[in-house]
Amino acid sequence: MRTDVVVIGAGPAGLLLAHLLAAEGIESIVIEARTKQYVAARIRAGILESASVDLLRAAGLGAGIEAEGEEHRGIYLQWPHERHHLDFTALVGRSVWVYGQTQLQADLVAASEAAGRPVFYDASGAALHDLDSDRPYVTFTDADGNGQRIDALAVAGCDGAFGPSRAAMPDGQRETWERVYPYSWLGILADVPPSTDELIYAWHPDGFALHSMRSATVSRLYLQVPNGTNAADWPDDRIWDTLATRLGHGQDGWRLTPGPITERSVLPMRSFVQSPMSHGRLFLAGDAAHTVPPTGAKGLNLAIADVALLAPALSDLVRDNDAKLADAYSGTALRRVWRAEHFSWWMTTMLHASGDPFDAQLQLSQLRWVTASAAGAAGLAENYTGLPIGF
Ligand SMILES: Cc1cc2nc3c(=O)[nH]c(=O)nc-3n(C[C@H](O)[C@H](O)[C@H](O)COP(=O)(O)OP(=O)(O)OC[C@H]3O[C@@H](n4cnc5c(N)ncnc54)[C@H](O)[C@@H]3O)c2cc1C
Repeated sequence: MRTDVVVIGAGPAGLLLAHLLAAEGIESIVIEARTKQYVAARIRAGILESASVDLLRAAGLGAGIEAEGEEHRGIYLQWPHERHHLDFTALVGRSVWVYGQTQLQADLVAASEAAGRPVFYDASGAALHDLDSDRPYVTFTDADGNGQRIDALAVAGCDGAFGPSRAAMPDGQRETWERVYPYSWLGILADVPPSTDELIYAWHPDGFALHSMRSATVSRLYLQVPNGTNAADWPDDRIWDTLATRLGHGQDGWRLTPGPITERSVLPMRSFVQSPMSHGRLFLAGDAAHTVPPTGAKGLNLAIADVALLAPALSDLVRDNDAKLADAYSGTALRRVWRAEHFSWWMTTMLHASGDPFDAQLQLSQLRWVTASAAGAAGLAENYTGLPIGF
């Protein structure tokens, strides 16, 4: 097969990139290691920054967000006996939207199918070749066991943290940074209306808790747990009791309503960046190039911001052989990536119990400043709602 751009990975980065390229008249073929059903069912992120929503709307992908998304003006930050609301819209004139990654994935699959764009699901053994030439190609085995080769003008590595694209960059020419945190999140989905109108981020001496949501009838909640935690060791009652304690059930009359838990999983917390994000005709986007701990709600938004930069860069490269934007892609994307890396690290270390009493006092001091000072609050709000794409 022959196409303009081979996209490896049909997650949000890969499918959105194919969509944006098509709008520019650029052909692509997407290959995905998992089945369509598996990719559609993955429960992951749920907050879209205002710039992400603007981009999705401009790309004709806003209908689902309008119909089912929920715009939030801010978040609550709390610690025992105190809860404070940060009003992002008042602080920086921007909001965020609650819209599950599963919903966005469904929108992207629907758009891809409506346009008849080729996606090879269940593809194994993807390998990248001749990336230093201007005729790279990708080989893989399709779902029926047939060997396939796709020749292209560029390869987009949108294959997440465990795909082959990241490692296809030559060893001496890439640099990586990593921070592994000494705690994980136990996340649940529950069939119960949220007990809050906006997200609650709770500092607690026993550990962090987050009350998020996916819709008016589905709640998403998280607990800080030690690394190596087995979700099976957390029966429903233990989860709800721990959430009630950390989220302040009973505080100023606020109540946490429990409900049937439909999904539970443990998510390790990690920061990771690989630089540069391009090599020859290979371009990395999304989790293929970077990981953030989810406290700042940045992973999905960074993937969207990367492909918003990459699509015009690849269009110029493929259509006009103009490499200006493609050459600038890595440097431009990494500026925003490192800002999000810092914000995600900052939110994580401000809110999670480390076991060190000195850390705890610093965290409380930071939380008081962020909630009491307009300058502190505006800084958090500006980063949480997302800096402009290309920042
Ligand atoms: C378990 C988990 C929970 C998360 N929870 C949250 C959260 O609560 N809040 C938050 O903000 N963010 C969360 N994130 C982060 C967010 O979901 C990601 O940042 C986002 O999915 C990035 O999109 P992506 O398209 O770059 O990567 P992905 O969504 O990872 O997509 C990459 C795709 O590439 C495919 N692939 C991999 N290897 C190959 C191969 N060899 N060949 C072909 N295809 C391949 C994968 O199957 C996958 O479909 C979570 C991430 C994970 C992994």
